[in-house]
Amino acid sequence: MIETIKQRWAAFDASMAAVSTLDQLNRLRVDYLGKKGCVPQFLKDLRGVSADAKPAVGKRINDLKTHVETALEEKTRVLEAKSDEAGGKEFFDVSLPGKKETAGSLHPVAQVMEEIVSVFYGLGFGVEEGPEIETDYYNFEALNIPKDHPARDMQDTFYVEEDLVLRTHTSPVQIHVMERRQPPLRIIAPGKVYRHDSDVTHTPMFHQIEGLMVDENVSFSNLKGIMDVFVHRVFGERTKLRFRPSFFPFTCPSAEVDIQCVMCLGKGCRVCSNTGWLEILGAGMVDPAVFRSVNYDPEKWTGLAFGLGIERVAMLKYGINDIRLFFENDLRFLKQF
Ligand SMILES: [Zn+2]
Repeated sequence: MIETIKQRWAAFDASMAAVSTLDQLNRLRVDYLGKKGCVPQFLKDLRGVSADAKPAVGKRINDLKTHVETALEEKTRVLEAKSDEAGGKEFFDVSLPGKKETAGSLHPVAQVMEEIVSVFYGLGFGVEEGPEIETDYYNFEALNIPKDHPARDMQDTFYVEEDLVLRTHTSPVQIHVMERRQPPLRIIAPGKVYRHDSDVTHTPMFHQIEGLMVDENVSFSNLKGIMDVFVHRVFGERTKLRFRPSFFPFTCPSAEVDIQCVMCLGKGCRVCSNTGWLEILGAGMVDPAVFRSVNYDPEKWTGLAFGLGIERVAMLKYGINDIRLFFENDLRFLKQF
């Protein structure tokens, strides 16, 4: 048997010398090491060898196996290197421009939200969050909007259950915070809100930022000062703003804040309906009824509150005329920011 092994060894070396492709090499591997190959066959035959000859024959078989494995491994490396070189000339053109990795970026709504948050953060306002599903009490009642109050019609509410709503504004966060903490307070609450409404300026889900400041002797001039800083930081130092009397159930007095139209700079255009002004947010002094619902003494504490829509700010800032563009996730739109 040792003679047969010697012959196969020589045959292997001869075949190996003739191998020039990875395919041929693989065939050789199967011939020698495959299940029905020569080495496993020798090992099977070993069982029939006499006990005293076994160690010598066994050692020969193992030597052959090691020799075959090493030779195959070496040749594989050589052939692979060659094929890389040859292949390189065929399908790798070093003059081709590289594939550009496109990096993602923050959504424009997220960018504007971050910008606004950082403005108020600089004024000492901390960020608070609250649940998006609210009880009727937090979304309406505690904010001085009792059942059957006409203000409920201003907000097309999604009801989850009879007493449970998708919050229609971020104002309920005010109540949660005031229940938990004592004044002085300065907080903003950014987040998603939901209303049953859809057209070029409304989507069923949008983002708001709510602001609340409670302390002794907070006055309307504090509110004006804070709104001034906010508008000037976000829309530019020269942007004029004005306060218009308005009504919200949870503030008194209430005002709507307008900025000079960013499109026509006050001359009057289609965007501002020829008024020269654009409504940007609602604000006011916290209604004593709201303080009473969280057991704050309205004789001692005064507060200001404001709320604004992020998409609205982003639309005015970037001159976008359809709010739905924010949520269609068209990369041609998103890549502009
Ligand atoms: Zn205008």
